[in-house]
Amino acid sequence: MDKKVDSLIKILDSLAIYKWGISSVPKSNKFYHDYSYAISLILNYDYDLEDYNPRDFHDFLIFNIRDELKSSIGIVEDHLKEEGIDYYVVSNMQKDKKLAIGEYSHKMAAVRAGLGWIGKNALLITKGYGPRVRLATILVNLDLPVSKKVDYDGCGSCNLCVNICPTNCIVDVNWSNGLKREDKINIFNCIDKNESREGHICGLCLVVCPVGGEKWLI
Ligand code: SF4
Ligand code: SF4
Repeated sequence: MDKKVDSLIKILDSLAIYKWGISSVPKSNKFYHDYSYAISLILNYDYDLEDYNPRDFHDFLIFNIRDELKSSIGIVEDHLKEEGIDYYVVSNMQKDKKLAIGEYSHKMAAVRAGLGWIGKNALLITKGYGPRVRLATILVNLDLPVSKKVDYDGCGSCNLCVNICPTNCIVDVNWSNGLKREDKINIFNCIDKNESREGHICGLCLVVCPVGGEKWLI
């Protein structure tokens, strides 16, 4: 294996995260000409429905989990700089607020990297922690071995997220290739709920999901 690839993989293996994976940047994507591969990092966390309240959950995600993942991103960035590899850390901000889309989909990069599937709640669902994960994506200009893709949908007949959603915006449909976000969720109703909470995210469809560890009852 190429020396640069080998040492990058060693760094990724040393991170205090749940998993990492690699996918290719689609040819149709605007980043394709500068970056050929995407590294997905996934940090897991626990949060029980019994402990849920919107403000605490929001603060927990924003202040605890985001900062923890930032330190892993920093380690990878330092390494890429040292090795002289061009990279770009994908923003978590929505580039187009009207359409509620970011500049590069963290979720789809993670799915293509074999890290999980898209749940009925339109979130990435991982086998180990369900949707209780925080994602980061780093695009790199270096040929990397692509991870094996997951080709199943583990939601089955579960519909806990569909039933708990206070705005009824989740469509009860299982994931398959080619489905668009709009086929699964009315994201604008979800955003309305967010705004009515003074900026606090709702996240009930995430907290209720039974997938992951001992909570996986389905
Ligand atoms: S975050 Fe809340 S409002 Fe939005 S889809 Fe999930 S349960 Fe529904
Ligand atoms: S709560 Fe059930 S249907 Fe919703 S994402 Fe989790 S497993 Fe899938």
